[in-house]
Amino acid sequence: MKRRYLDYSATTPVKKEVLEAMIPYFTETFGNASSIHTFGQIAKEVLTESRKKVANLINANENEIFFTSGGTESDNWALKSIAKVNKNRGKHIITSKIEHHAILHSCETLESEGFEVTYLDVDEYGFISLEDLKNAIRKDTILISIMYINNEIGTVQNIEEIGKIAKDNNVIFHTDAVQAAGNIKIDVKELNVDLLSMSSHKIYGPKGIGALYIKRGTRIIPFMDGGAQEKKKRAGTENIPAIVGFAKACEIAKENLDEHINKLSVLRDDLIEKVSNSIDDVKVNGPRDNRHPGNVNFAFKYIEGEALLLMLDAVGVAASSGSACTAGSLEPSHVLMSIGLGHEIAHGSLRLTIGDFTEEEDIDFIVENLIRIVQTLRDMSPLYQG
Ligand SMILES: *Cc1c(COP(=O)(O)O)cnc(C)c1O
Repeated sequence: MKRRYLDYSATTPVKKEVLEAMIPYFTETFGNASSIHTFGQIAKEVLTESRKKVANLINANENEIFFTSGGTESDNWALKSIAKVNKNRGKHIITSKIEHHAILHSCETLESEGFEVTYLDVDEYGFISLEDLKNAIRKDTILISIMYINNEIGTVQNIEEIGKIAKDNNVIFHTDAVQAAGNIKIDVKELNVDLLSMSSHKIYGPKGIGALYIKRGTRIIPFMDGGAQEKKKRAGTENIPAIVGFAKACEIAKENLDEHINKLSVLRDDLIEKVSNSIDDVKVNGPRDNRHPGNVNFAFKYIEGEALLLMLDAVGVAASSGSACTAGSLEPSHVLMSIGLGHEIAHGSLRLTIGDFTEEEDIDFIVENLIRIVQTLRDMSPLYQG
C-alpha cells in the first residue's frame, strides 16, 4: 500500500541533501568544537558557517543565533530566562490562548513562581486583537510572547504590528516561529522581534536541534550550566552533524521559499475547495488569508475525529486530529476551543498538512477517500439525519 504523509506540521522527513551534508560529521570530521587541535578547529569552522546559514533564513546576524535542542528548549529558554532577568522590573507576561504547549506550560511554571500571565483571546479565525494586546499591557509587563503561525489551524499573526506595540511600550517580544521559518518570508530586521524560536525537524532537517534568535543587546541568562559553548549562553558540546543538517535545511528553505509557498498553497486551496464542494456540513477551521501555505483543517459535523484518523490510516493516509500533542487524550484541542468550536465539532476536526513531497494525486486520493469515509461514519452516527 502506498503511504501518504499529510502531517508535515508534526514533523518532516530529512531531505537527501541534508542527510548527505551531515554524514561526514559523524565519522570523519567528528571533532569537538572546543578542542585546540585541527579536528576541533574544523568543527569550529563548520559551526560558524552553519550559524551563518541559519541566520540567513531570517535575515539575522550570525552572532544572534544560539543553537538549542529544538523548538521546545528555545521557547522554555526565552520565557523563563527573560522572566528571571527582568523580574525586578515587573512580573507580568502576555501570551495567547492558542500557543504551543511549550509556551503555555512554561507560563504555568512561571505562574507557580509568582509571575502573572494574561492569556489573550483569539477571534474565530485564531487572530489576537491588537486592541486587546494594547489594553493588556501594564506598567509591570516585561514580556509578550505570541506565536508566528499556529500549528493546528495555520493562522499567521501580524507579528510586525505586535512587535511595534511591544517596542512602543518597552516590552520584550518573543515569537515561536517554529511553523513559520521556511514557510513564510521572515526578516527579523523588519519585525521588531527580540527573540524568535526555530526548530529543524519542521523544515526537513534532523530532530533534536533548533535555535533561538536573540537580538543583539537583549539581556538573557543561560538555561543550562556547564561549558562555555554558544558564548557561555547554552552549555553542552555542540551537536555538529545535526547543526550542519539544520543549516543545510535552512539554506534549501531560503533558496526555494517562493516556489515552496506557491506549490503548497495551490495544493492547500485545491484540497479545501474540493472537500468543501463535495461534503456537506463541513467547516474550514482557521483563516482564508494569512494562513500557513500547507495547513488544512476541517471540522466535520456528526463525526468522531479519531475514527476518521484510523480509517484514513487504513488506506495509507497519515493525518492528525487537531494537535499531535493531544493525540491519545480525550480533551478537545485548546486551539479549537479558543476559536469557539463546541466540544462535538472540535472532536470531528481533522488536520492535513501539506509539504514538499505532496503531489496533486495525493490530494485527489484524499478527497475521494474522505467523501467515502465521512459518509460511512455518518451512516453509523445516531446524530446524523442525512
Ligand atoms: C513543533 C513545535 C514546537 C516544538 O518544537 P520541537 O523542536 O519539536 O521541540 C514548538 N512550537 C510549535 C509551534 C511547534 O509546531
